[in-house]
Parts: sequence; structure tokens; C-alpha cells
Amino acid sequence: MSENILPLLAPKERCTGCGACASGCPKGAIHLLPDREGFLTPAVTDACIQCGHCTHVCPVLRQREKRSAPAAFAAWNPDPEIRMASSAGGVFFLLADYVLETGGVVFGAATDSELRVRHMAAHNAAELKPLLGAKPVQSELGDTFPRIRRYLDAGRRVLFCGTPCQVDGLYHYLGEHPDNLLTADLLCQGVCSPGVWEQLVRSMAYVKRRQPVSVTFFGKLAGEKRQRFRVQFEDNSVFDAPFDKCELGRGHRRGLLFRPACHTCPYTSTDRVGDLSLGVCEGLPKDFYPDEQKNGVSLLLVNSAKGARTLDVLPLKREPLSLESAVAAAPALRESVPAPAERSDFFAAFAQQPFHQVQSRFLAPLAYQARRRGDGLLRFLHKNEKREKRSLWKKR
Ligand SMILES: Cc1cc2nc3c(=O)[nH]c(=O)nc-3n(C[C@H](O)[C@H](O)[C@H](O)COP(=O)(O)OP(=O)(O)OC[C@H]3O[C@@H](n4cnc5c(N)ncnc54)[C@H](O)[C@@H]3O)c2cc1C
Repeated sequence: MSENILPLLAPKERCTGCGACASGCPKGAIHLLPDREGFLTPAVTDACIQCGHCTHVCPVLRQREKRSAPAAFAAWNPDPEIRMASSAGGVFFLLADYVLETGGVVFGAATDSELRVRHMAAHNAAELKPLLGAKPVQSELGDTFPRIRRYLDAGRRVLFCGTPCQVDGLYHYLGEHPDNLLTADLLCQGVCSPGVWEQLVRSMAYVKRRQPVSVTFFGKLAGEKRQRFRVQFEDNSVFDAPFDKCELGRGHRRGLLFRPACHTCPYTSTDRVGDLSLGVCEGLPKDFYPDEQKNGVSLLLVNSAKGARTLDVLPLKREPLSLESAVAAAPALRESVPAPAERSDFFAAFAQQPFHQVQSRFLAPLAYQARRRGDGLLRFLHKNEKREKRSLWKKR
């Protein structure tokens, strides 16, 4: 690469924030900083020596090699308790448990003490627990990639689980597919802004006058299909609502809070980057393992020989599916979500207005938003939603 090349990074609207550029920069000249929408974005500093390594490792700027079609399965962890604690069928736990048992290290997303979503390492079963369950907010990778390289160089086995753009970023950072690295990418149609989530956490603390200390985004309740958003506060009180009835859920469902690159995501296909791909298996016939379906079945894609070898040693239950039926049941395997019309208004308001105004304008129940706009037709709906909201606050 020419010595005088300027640091050419992915255009902002396509940058996934994987951080391969920042992690790989030999001078540490690239920092990931929050942009006005609250997403971490690379910023090049004066320390840049224009070596072009960032351009070289950026997955967005490189053509991906096509892989052969994956094998698809409906799969589940035989332990119903693990399935209840996981977002789908608890396949991630089995992979992680196997890697830990063989002396390896597992990297996945968890929430920290301020409820920020970040990738963390698990070296044992206790450290694995916080990694379970999907977090809809884009996770901060921090120094995950260099740490993984150190473990791999020391001969340790590593499992990395993340969004496909993060898995692709890791491989580009490493510049190879090491034998002792196993990857699982998630079926994903978008990650929400960490900046918006941070404001929502602050708002909860303000309204409740107590600090939130833990969160489950997609909790399960026995016998209920709807996923639960549960926040526990320092005094042990709990906010518990269906995910689609909380402010984060409303923004998430409409794709309002997604990173710009998610709206043109090149990974929403069956051409996967990880050794394995994990999703939620939906649309199964009612008589297909009805008990297992109650607390979650995973959609599992096997994309590499390493992925297939690993599965063979796991105590996993699985039934083959045709790839066509998997694609039909999983939108994340065929299309990205277009940006909603109000996205730019939302983020303009987020950058300029007090957050409580943004909340009531965009994230409140739809009927309330309609009332603010003077739409009397939906007023009665607002009344019902208010009543429902009151009953969501529970004291343990
Ligand atoms: C942002 C996001 C969007 C998703 N969208 C879809 C979808 O559209 N369709 C679908 O079928 N499945 C989707 N999934 C995947 C699904 O919800 C399950 O996480 C997945 O099937 C694994 O389930 P599990 O039961 O095996 O393990 P779980 O215990 O549920 O999965 C835990 C693993 O997910 C990883 N993880 C959790 N949150 C994040 C995050 N924010 N960033 C990176 N990694 C994370 C953790 O590192 C951990 O390794 C999504 C997941 C995420 C995080």
C-alpha cells in the first residue's frame, strides 16, 4: 500500500463500528468516540502515520469470499433452566461450556455496573452467566480483539460470539482464521444506539429516584410468548413489562434506534461469517417438540467444518431443517430493515432537545404520540395504555 495513502475508512453510513481499524492501528491513532447519535465511530488523530493498515483491515472496504450454503437445524439445550435464561434455545451456553471445559476463554456481551453493554471475557461458569441472553444495544468491544489475539497466541481456545459485523471485524483484525478460534455470529437485523440506551437508563433512575442495577432485555416467563424487559433497582424493586411496551422496545421494533449501517446490512443473508450462526427458531409447527418450544428453540446454521466438528461433541438436541424453511422463518437471513421515515427527526431531536422531550415525542405509546400531535381519534387508546403502564410498576 502506498506510503502516502490517507487513512481511508468506511463511509459513516456503512461503518459498523466493529473497531478493527482502531484495534489494529499500530500507533493507537484511531479512537472510537460516540457520534451525535450515540454510536461509537472511529476518529483518526494526529498520531496517524498513514500506513493504511486501517484501510486494509476494514471489513466494509473488502470484498467477502463467498462460502458454501450452511446446514440448518432447529436446536436446543436439553436443560430447560438454561433455555429460560437464554434468548433462544440456549445453544450459546453449550458452546461456551464446552470451550471453558477444555481450558478456553469465552467472549460475549454483558451489561456492566452502569448497565452499559460491553463484550467481556468468561473464564469460568460464574463469569459466563452475565453473557447469557441477547442485548439489543450495540456492545462496546473495547480491547476485546487484542485480548483474543493474546489468548490465541498463548495456545488457548477462544469462543467469540457477537453480531456478524463484529465477527467479520475480528477475522479482519487477526488477518487469519486460527484453528483455536471458534466463532458464533447472531442472526441480527440491527443494534440500538448505546447513547440512547444510556439516556434511558438515566431517565429510569430519575423517575424511580433509585439506581437501576441489572437488566434483562428479553426475559422469558413460563407459559408466555412475549419477551419481558425487567429492570431491578438498588432497593430490589422491579420494573417488568413486555419488551414491546417499554420505550427501548418501541424504538427497537420500529428500527428507529438502529445504527445507520444496519439499514443496508450485508450480513442479512445465508452467507455467514461465523463458524456457527445462532437465531431464534420461529414458525415451527405446534406439534414439533411442544414442551421445548415453550421455553425456546434456536435456529442454528453450521457454516464451517470446525462448526460441524464442535456440534458433534455437544449434548445438543437438534432436528434438521431445509435452508429454505429457515430463510422463510428468519427475516434476518434475507433482508435488512429500512430506516423508518422519522429516523432523522428522532436523532436530530436526540442531539438537540432535552431527552424527556425526545421520549414523549418518539418513544411514548403510539396513542400518546398521536395525542401530542392533536390526533383525537386515538385518545381512548392512550387512556388504556396509561392504565397498563401503571400496573407494570411492581414492588417485589
Ligand atoms: C442485537 C441482536 C439482534 C438479534 N436479532 C435477531 C433476529 O432478528 N432474529 C433472530 O432469529 N435472532 C436474533 N438475535 C439472536 C437471538 O436473540 C439469540 O441471541 C441467539 O439466537 C442466541 O441465543 P441462545 O439462546 O443460543 O443464547 P443467548 O444466551 O441468548 O445468547 C447470548 C450470546 O449473545 C451475545 N450477545 C448478546 N447481546 C449481544 C450484543 N448486543 N452484541 C453482540 N453479541 C451479543 C452474547 O455475547 C452471548 O454470547 C439477535 C441478537 C442480538 C444481540
